[in-house]
Amino acid sequence: MDRIDLRSDTVSWPTPDMRRAMAEAPVGDDVYGEDPTVNRLEALAAEKLGKEAGLFVASGTMGNLVAVLAHCGRGDEIILGDRAHTHIYEAGGISALGGVHPRPVSVQPDGTLPLDAIRRAIRPVDVHFPRTRLIALENTQGTVGGIPVPKSYIDAVGEIAREHGLKLHIDGARIFNAATALGCPVAELVAAADSVTFCLSKGLIAPVGSVLVGSRAFIDEARRARKILGGGMRQAGILAAAGLIALEKMTLRLDEDHAHARMLAEGLAEMPAIEIDPGRVMTNMVFFALREEAGMTAPALAERLKAYNIWMMARDDRGFRAVTHYWIRREHIAQVLDAIRKELS
Ligand SMILES: *Cc1c(COP(=O)(O)O)cnc(C)c1O
Repeated sequence: MDRIDLRSDTVSWPTPDMRRAMAEAPVGDDVYGEDPTVNRLEALAAEKLGKEAGLFVASGTMGNLVAVLAHCGRGDEIILGDRAHTHIYEAGGISALGGVHPRPVSVQPDGTLPLDAIRRAIRPVDVHFPRTRLIALENTQGTVGGIPVPKSYIDAVGEIAREHGLKLHIDGARIFNAATALGCPVAELVAAADSVTFCLSKGLIAPVGSVLVGSRAFIDEARRARKILGGGMRQAGILAAAGLIALEKMTLRLDEDHAHARMLAEGLAEMPAIEIDPGRVMTNMVFFALREEAGMTAPALAERLKAYNIWMMARDDRGFRAVTHYWIRREHIAQVLDAIRKELS
């Protein structure tokens, strides 16, 4: 029996067509710029996101790091969310390797950073202060439940960035989920950004990789930063081949994952021992919590669900995160709801 794995969309594995495309991909030395499959992926990603050029990188973490290294110098400052992935889950790479100083601003429940807080965080010219160089947003905002951040807000932040001569980066690990949920073409959604990273290996289910896009000059710099980090890969077309399918096909079906997440949320909302606001389930993430009356902790329930072949992530003592993806089908959602109902009854 297949494992029903809702811990993350990163646990998704490639489709048979991806594996075939990987086996048959034309390849070359990508450090020489000669891998035709990588070149196609980078060009297609740039075109889809409405930017000049793209760079295939090993992970979302590497994409964000090379973006920050290309935008900022040592001692420069980046304004970013206090619950942003780059601030919390990327091992402090921007500081450790870039000497870049983070200026966290509080992430709101709707995934935005307040515009006035961003304005206040921009440093005036003063010998005491680091130089503000970059603003970074995340879309969807993972830590508040995969909330998509709308174009009007991104445009407003872009306006602030331009007024102050700053750059705007979007950590769009799940930007196609955001575009799908908002019904906004992805290129329009990120039009105000100077650079965007997105993951091929989450909801788009390629086995490895992310793409960073931006202007040609910026991508030239980022390519250098990638080389410094040891990310110059050779016949990487084998990986990019799966990424092409991810970008061409998997971006078109994310509404299915969102519908499954909603189904799960609505089912959970009917259980008295569960606390959830199904209205906040807008993409492929479902955050919920056990009430006192559940009589067990989230880690204990997660452990019990393994007996049903269901894997889910306890976020803390009471809270859960469940993430839908290509390999989670409608009937799996019904099985998950049945198992939870049974364990909590
Ligand atoms: C997953 C994720 C990343 C990093 O991606 P990896 O490929 O795991 O390094 C960056 N930002 C956000 C918002 C993510 O969800």
